[in-house]
Amino acid sequence: MNRRLSEIVGYLPEELLSKTFQDITHPDDLEADLQQLKRTLAGEIHGYTMEKRYFHRDGHTIWIKLTVSLVRHADGQPDYFISVVEDISEQHRLAVARQQAAAVFESTREGIIITDLQRRIQTVNPAFSDITGYSAEEAIGKTPAMLRSGHMSEELYQGMWESLHVLGHWQGEVLNRRKNGELFPELLTISTVRDPAGQPTQYVALLTDLSRLRQSEAQLAHLAHYDPLTDLPNRLLVQSRLDHALDTAQRENGRLAVLFIDLDRFKDVNDSLGHPVGDELLVAIAQRMRARLRESDTLARLGGDEFLVVLEDIHRPEDAAEVAQGLIRLQDAPIRLPSGHEVYVGVSIGISLYPNDGDSTTELIRQADAAMYQAKSQGRNTFRFYTAALTEAADQRLAMEGRLRRALQAGEFVVHYQPQFVAATGEVVGCEALVRWQDPDGGLVPPANFIPLAEDTGLIVPLGRWVLETACAQAQAWREAGVADLVMAVNLSGRQLQQRDLVSVVAEALERSALPPDRLKLELTESMIMDHGDEAIALLHSLKALGVSLSIDDFGTGYSSLAYLKRFPIDEMKIDRGFVRDTPDNASDAEIVATIVAMGRNLKLRVVAEGVETQQQLDFLIGLGCNACQGYLVSPGLSAADFERFLAHERHGIDA
Ligand code: C2E
Ligand code: MG
Ligand code: MG
Repeated sequence: MNRRLSEIVGYLPEELLSKTFQDITHPDDLEADLQQLKRTLAGEIHGYTMEKRYFHRDGHTIWIKLTVSLVRHADGQPDYFISVVEDISEQHRLAVARQQAAAVFESTREGIIITDLQRRIQTVNPAFSDITGYSAEEAIGKTPAMLRSGHMSEELYQGMWESLHVLGHWQGEVLNRRKNGELFPELLTISTVRDPAGQPTQYVALLTDLSRLRQSEAQLAHLAHYDPLTDLPNRLLVQSRLDHALDTAQRENGRLAVLFIDLDRFKDVNDSLGHPVGDELLVAIAQRMRARLRESDTLARLGGDEFLVVLEDIHRPEDAAEVAQGLIRLQDAPIRLPSGHEVYVGVSIGISLYPNDGDSTTELIRQADAAMYQAKSQGRNTFRFYTAALTEAADQRLAMEGRLRRALQAGEFVVHYQPQFVAATGEVVGCEALVRWQDPDGGLVPPANFIPLAEDTGLIVPLGRWVLETACAQAQAWREAGVADLVMAVNLSGRQLQQRDLVSVVAEALERSALPPDRLKLELTESMIMDHGDEAIALLHSLKALGVSLSIDDFGTGYSSLAYLKRFPIDEMKIDRGFVRDTPDNASDAEIVATIVAMGRNLKLRVVAEGVETQQQLDFLIGLGCNACQGYLVSPGLSAADFERFLAHERHGIDA
């Protein structure tokens, strides 16, 4: 052995002489060495070269390159080995580093560009291609200017090169363009590579696609503002929306409502079925409620089983009550959860209103919360306003609504008929169908007490249909029985006019009753028609096409514009009771009535006066040439049976 070997392994020559090479070989490399040794001794090979590890005297491993040759005696018997040992630890380290560098280059998510000093691209890594869309082949030989978006200033590039020349590196944010044309922000880091003599040889650019980062920033922002379970806005977001809504409401004199919602007995679900099922329930309830609300309403989850709704732009407290009632009724049906459980939950809702209850976000939420506790303590699955009086009023309305619905199902509505007669002769030629509610608890309720609510709630649509069918059937029954052949007038509501199927509803009523279309008259008001513009004109024409006639009810209380009237295919005007009442004594009313009658003659429309109570009124109207009348002078509205008796009496009176 020579001195160099003792230097490599760190042993003194005399120490080394007492060791075998096995003593200092790393055990993992020993087997391979012995194998080669055996083959050499067996004459298969003359010697070998391998890289293996020794232990240095101080315990650390060193890499060596070992070259072993076997020297044989003249007779061919092995004599001795010559081993040359070269310390390759440093090369080995470099190779490993190179491998690691290559792995980084290949697998990093940052794009890497290496250019020569003329900025021509020599190499790019796969991430560069992922980010920019350009393959290595497309990029090599070009300059990084291929990525320019045209949105960066020349000064930026000048500053970049200056910094590279002076400092050797540059970093900044650049807006570049992908191959597909898409713009993307990137963080660009460029370094100058120098040789050992310090001369620049290359540039290495590292580019980080910031659009992904920006996206995850957006995701983070989403997380900060949305509840991860239900994906509804969280407390933070709903508060800021409410702040904003309050600003708008203050500016525009609007109203808004805050609904604080708490599930009833949610804890029971959690306790008995477990938290995962509880979570499923929260998600399902959130979806259910979201679907029930308008797009412009904010539904948020405050945490636990508490939700908040902000209703912007409401007109009356009842609007909020209706939404609350809707959300409560929504829970009538069981919820079937993905886990297979079917559960019922109620909700308790507290409502606060701007401007009634307060004008700050915290105040409104706190009051809605307090009202919710009221709802809980008063039986759950119900709502309460922060103000007791409002709760009461809304309660009454809702109770009434419920009673009306049941009344329709239970057949508690009845139709009365009020005769219409020729003004000059008194001959009964028609009647108006007027609905009443035979309330088992409260006697006969006039329409003024329930029609407005029925209109608000939409109940007027089925109710109006029922009146129409009943009246048509009655008119035809009287015809068939030979009682009378009258024109039946039926009132329509604005809500019915909005129904797409109104024409077919009328057609069906006629068909089912077999009443000839010219025996049916529909009463509408001016405002109903005006509210619906050109669509209304088309609708009126379709109704006319069925063969029915059209009458403008309460004429004089609406627009009463001749120009408008001419555009509508109407047959009759009914002078409003209010003008008839004080004629002929009140001169200006008398004048209005006279004008309406003259106007009707001009437009070739029939004119009917309603609310005729006295003989003077009748005489006055006859004098003007009014066609027909209706009023207590002759008869109020009568049940069908009373109406028949009335007719018989009339006829008897005429016969006599
Ligand atoms: P309207 O269509 O103008 O009906 C005439 C109203 O005047 C009826 O009141 C009738 O009883 C009343 N009346 C008739 N003659 C006299 C009179 O000489 N003096 C006084 N003071 N009143 C008289 P009613 O039945 O209470 O109906 C009120 C309103 O309810 C109706 O006004 C109509 O707008 C609405 N209505 C009634 N039935 C229906 C219906 O089936 N559908 C719709 N949509 N509305 C209806
Ligand atoms: Mg009427
Ligand atoms: Mg009227």
